[in-house]
Amino acid sequence: MTDALDTTRPISAPSAQPLAPRAAPPQLSVVVPMYNEEANLEPLVARLVPVLERCVDTFEVIFVDDGSSDATLAALRAVHRLDPRLRAVSFSRNFGKEIAIAAGLDHARGDAVVIMDADLQHPPEMIETFVERWREGYQNVYGQRVDRTADSALRRSLTLRFYHLFETFGETSLPPGAGDFRLLDRSAADALRAMGERARFSKGLYAWIGYRSLGVPFEVAERAHGQSKFSYRKLTRFALDGLMSFSTVPLKVWTYVGTVISIAALIMAVYFLLRTVTVGADVPGYASLIVSIMFFSGVQLMSLGILGEYVGRIFAEVKRRPLYLVSERVGVERDSSPLGRAAQDRTA
Ligand code: UDP
Ligand code: MG
Repeated sequence: MTDALDTTRPISAPSAQPLAPRAAPPQLSVVVPMYNEEANLEPLVARLVPVLERCVDTFEVIFVDDGSSDATLAALRAVHRLDPRLRAVSFSRNFGKEIAIAAGLDHARGDAVVIMDADLQHPPEMIETFVERWREGYQNVYGQRVDRTADSALRRSLTLRFYHLFETFGETSLPPGAGDFRLLDRSAADALRAMGERARFSKGLYAWIGYRSLGVPFEVAERAHGQSKFSYRKLTRFALDGLMSFSTVPLKVWTYVGTVISIAALIMAVYFLLRTVTVGADVPGYASLIVSIMFFSGVQLMSLGILGEYVGRIFAEVKRRPLYLVSERVGVERDSSPLGRAAQDRTA
């Protein structure tokens, strides 16, 4: 467990094992989450490396193989043999893009870290602009999609609705069109690493940390090879995670719903009382009885369900399981800083 987050240990305490001397950290690290992206690796490297060579002296690319079932890992090993600046961390199974990004940030050592997708939807040439803005002093430079035509109409409309909900109920405001494609200064990257949440809704976290932020508009390209790895089921899960980690409104709203229903019930009680006194009691009323019983049972089950969603998330957080498990490192040193969250792996 030497690698796991240990909050009781002061940051400056000497570590138990002497560290091997490390090479000087590069100026820029690029983190790329990869899930079955074998076909995209070569075209990505061919476009990315020249851009990086143009804008910085030293760089590293950390590919995070998120438990791919194709030959992504083999391709990454091959790429590292040709160019040792291209490195990789491979997970023991698929943990999801958000966690892959967290692992990339844990292993990146650059003064600034760029996060981008592997499928060339995020044009590598934009990194030059990101780096310029970073040199001007911005610490959180994000790409802002100007259009979403690369997504299906259904996904676009659901996305729009989600952002609307988030804007209304979320406790953090998200800049429009901002995603994972961004450059983070070391300070911002460390701030993200310090957040130990398991349910990671990065878009919310990027906005929550603040720092001098700037949006740079860009056009999302079509996916180069393969298909989107996000099914509607995955996206729904992601949206729920996002809303629930940044809002407690769904929990609190039941107080108001309950109050309104109770007041209505009181008014009805008074009405029926007066009616009984003046007109007399009438037996019929099964229909309204059944309807109201069903309605209120539904309301109760719904509020219980929402409580359950939060309790489930609390349960996942308190278990304090490692965020991810690494099965292989390619040219990357074990992350040994106190902030590291990966569980000790036996292979590397
Ligand atoms: N990805 C990942 N783990 C997953 C799903 C996706 O690392 O479980 C990576 C994927 O390889 C790609 C990036 O996340 O580099 C974005 O995925 P995708 O293009 O499928 O998403 P979309 O562009 O449709 O939002
Ligand atoms: Mg994509």
